[in-house]
Amino acid sequence: MTATRIAIVGVGKIARDQHIPAIEASPDLTLTATASRNGQVDGIPAYPDIDAMLAAEPDLQAISLCQPPSARHAAARSAIAAGKHVFLEKPPGATLSDVEDLCAAADAAGVVLFASWHSRWAAAVEPARDWLASRTIRSVEIAWKEDVRKWHPGQDWIWQPGGFGVFDPGINALSILTRILSGPVRLEAATMEVPANRASPIAAELTMRSAGGAPIHAVFDWRQTGPQSWDISVETDGGTLVLADGGNRLTIDGAPHDVPADREYPALYDRFAKLIAEGRSDVDLAPLTLVADAFMVGARVTTDAFED
Ligand code: NAP
Repeated sequence: MTATRIAIVGVGKIARDQHIPAIEASPDLTLTATASRNGQVDGIPAYPDIDAMLAAEPDLQAISLCQPPSARHAAARSAIAAGKHVFLEKPPGATLSDVEDLCAAADAAGVVLFASWHSRWAAAVEPARDWLASRTIRSVEIAWKEDVRKWHPGQDWIWQPGGFGVFDPGINALSILTRILSGPVRLEAATMEVPANRASPIAAELTMRSAGGAPIHAVFDWRQTGPQSWDISVETDGGTLVLADGGNRLTIDGAPHDVPADREYPALYDRFAKLIAEGRSDVDLAPLTLVADAFMVGARVTTDAFED
């Protein structure tokens, strides 16, 4: 089978750190072009925007969209209209209706749409899901606390409307949560702290409930200096499961469990290649729905101005 010719749109941090190495290592995919206003990849044809790329590279088969979420819908629509399969970085769009529109358009065009949630592919997530499947959940505590200056330096888009603020990393926790628990998770209340000079929250606290009625409490905070926390702790009738390091480390009642080697983005691209081979889309809106619900019912509290 010949490798699928794929392009990247939005050559920024995540494209360079993860997408390009994962595509280059994949036997199923060939990086054929990029579209980005400033970014380029050595030796790969580069275009200033997706429409110029689509016009010049008619043999492209798939497109990976790695820009900020607010830029993604228009680009995805162009790619789908040109008959290309589409890989969406997380979050898959700036709004739920953006993504629902893309699902309908991809269906009508007969192309594959993949809403990727990279944290779900962290090494310990599936072992955690398997272990929890036969236990009764009593409560869940999530702490997703990191230093925005370290992880998002100079990323102005992240503070703008549609940029998600602290939900940009927080949605990763919600993507794991909604994978490891069976049944839907419901948001009950939220509080968001928004810097006086910004449009998006720097911190958020969420109260949720599992399908079985267990309370779920989450704290997302971008003001964390020193050790960073990306931890989910689940109390069950059979002990306490802790997923640490963003889903990469698993302990049960304090005892470490062996997990497979970490290969988040290679696994995501294996999945995309498989979906293309099978002609199937994969779009789960559960994490984005919880974020949208938090913005709908959440109380907004103004906090100190934030300067990068
Ligand atoms: P980034 O470094 O800002 O890169 C995004 C690139 O998209 C920019 O360099 C820019 O390249 C292009 N772009 C197109 N339209 C844009 C717009 N309206 N505003 C700003 N840039 C625009 O961001 P990133 O960290 O790679 O994040 C991109 C997406 O990946 C986000 O959805 C994020 O949640 C997700 N993600 C990020 C990480 C991470 O560790 N950073 C991890 C996982 C997922 P040109 O100027 O060349 O057009």
